[in-house]
Amino acid sequence: MAPHASDSRHEIPTANGTSTDGSSTNANGTDVAPVIIVGAGPVGLLLALRLAMNQIRTVVLEKEPWLNPLPRAIGYHGPVHNVFEEIGLYDQIAAEGMASGGYAWRKLPTDNSMGKPGPDGKFTPGHYSIQLAQCRLAEIFLENATKTGFTKVLWEHEVTGLSQDEHQVSVKVATASGGEKVIRGQYLAACDGSRSTVRKLLGIRLSGHSWPERFLATDVLRVAPVVPDFSVHFTVDETFWGVVTPLEHVEAGKQGLWRYSLAVPEKPNDDINSAPLTDEQVLEPEYVDSLLLRQIDGPRPSSHVVVRKSLYKMHQLLASTMHRGRCFLAGDSAHINNPIGGLGLCTGLLDGDALARTLQIAFSTSPSDPNLEPLFNRYSTERRWVFQNVIHPFSSANKIRLHGAKPDDVVREDWYFTALARGDPKELQDIHRPLYAQWRTDMRKFWPAGTDVKEPKAP
Ligand SMILES: Cc1cc2nc3c(=O)[nH]c(=O)nc-3n(C[C@H](O)[C@H](O)[C@H](O)COP(=O)(O)OP(=O)(O)OC[C@H]3O[C@@H](n4cnc5c(N)ncnc54)[C@H](O)[C@@H]3O)c2cc1C
Repeated sequence: MAPHASDSRHEIPTANGTSTDGSSTNANGTDVAPVIIVGAGPVGLLLALRLAMNQIRTVVLEKEPWLNPLPRAIGYHGPVHNVFEEIGLYDQIAAEGMASGGYAWRKLPTDNSMGKPGPDGKFTPGHYSIQLAQCRLAEIFLENATKTGFTKVLWEHEVTGLSQDEHQVSVKVATASGGEKVIRGQYLAACDGSRSTVRKLLGIRLSGHSWPERFLATDVLRVAPVVPDFSVHFTVDETFWGVVTPLEHVEAGKQGLWRYSLAVPEKPNDDINSAPLTDEQVLEPEYVDSLLLRQIDGPRPSSHVVVRKSLYKMHQLLASTMHRGRCFLAGDSAHINNPIGGLGLCTGLLDGDALARTLQIAFSTSPSDPNLEPLFNRYSTERRWVFQNVIHPFSSANKIRLHGAKPDDVVREDWYFTALARGDPKELQDIHRPLYAQWRTDMRKFWPAGTDVKEPKAP
């Protein structure tokens, strides 16, 4: 059942008119929306789209005037492909991204397989990785959500305050013009990233640890002399480890956009007393090039051009809960892991998927249904379980594998590499099973049997 201002089962009493753009204005001039989403990142926009497909109106509040263009996620795999299929966007996302049927691990240049394309040249969803810049993925969600008429995005609207009671949640918003607004909703989804204001306003703690190294993400235009079948590769090295991947369909001998993600050593040289470089020093073009030139193959001088760069700290952190009252956390606002293996945004998208289903169920029943609170708690406990038991250990092992020992030792001693070398498909399937089988949460399992929960419709 879609929530409208006239829906007595989930009505905000003071709403006196709902526009087609996702919000309404009450007699006091306050914006009202069934669901407030804080943050127009990919997680918030996927959630908006999934809810819009079920005719649930949302207002997305984004503090910036645009989608964040910084180089971040690029790889999407496993059950995330099934989510893309269910929202009708798999073909577009797969066509725009570069397909990688596996990964390669290599040493610094002096110098496996997840799947193979079928006879039609296409991969099976869930059995390969789609490589596409996060910003483009968010843009695809944005275009599709706004064209439904059920999603309204308010740019340059920064959430600064929050209060809630048993009927509604209100946020205080600072606008670009220096003004202040109050926006009220029935539920709120905090998709506002790792520094989440909403998480702090709710008093929810993050626990875990931070890694000592920094990580430099660069988008680089270059002519690759060779594009191997597994164009995504990890460089194994105790100090200069990294990840290299195309960001579009690249061909040997032609210019294309690549992502080079590089570890920044803790110390600039072997002297243990040397001071670490400042962030500004790391981002100096000469230093960025000194790291890049260790990785880029092909003739020298290299003709590469750095088009974007951004420096990150890496963490393994989890919020103590992803639900408080009428508010939910999803994506980086709830959990952060190091980027090796591309698990962060994929997990956030699967949070968005689970939360969309949770809210869809909530809007199909009475707000006083006693089964709702246990369902809301279940969203939090299930998604936290996935992070703590699957994503945290997998992503930590992915990172340590790249730099834990000398490359020739790692290849003989690491359990994953030795399993790859044995090449037993059943053994490899067993290794990946916890990730692929447990990553996505079907919230319908936790709702009493016999209740009608409608499938989302493609826009
Ligand atoms: C180098 C790098 C590579 C990565 N590679 C991968 C990968 O290949 N695959 C993968 O799955 N993950 C990857 N990740 C992780 C991925 O980038 C994050 O998990 C992802 O950005 C999380 O998305 P999000 O929508 O939760 O948050 P964000 O993308 O951070 O979006 C949050 C949004 O909220 C807005 N906001 C913040 N505060 C407020 C406020 N108070 N009011 C209103 N708006 C607000 C922000 O402006 C922002 O637009 C990578 C990360 C890095 C750094």
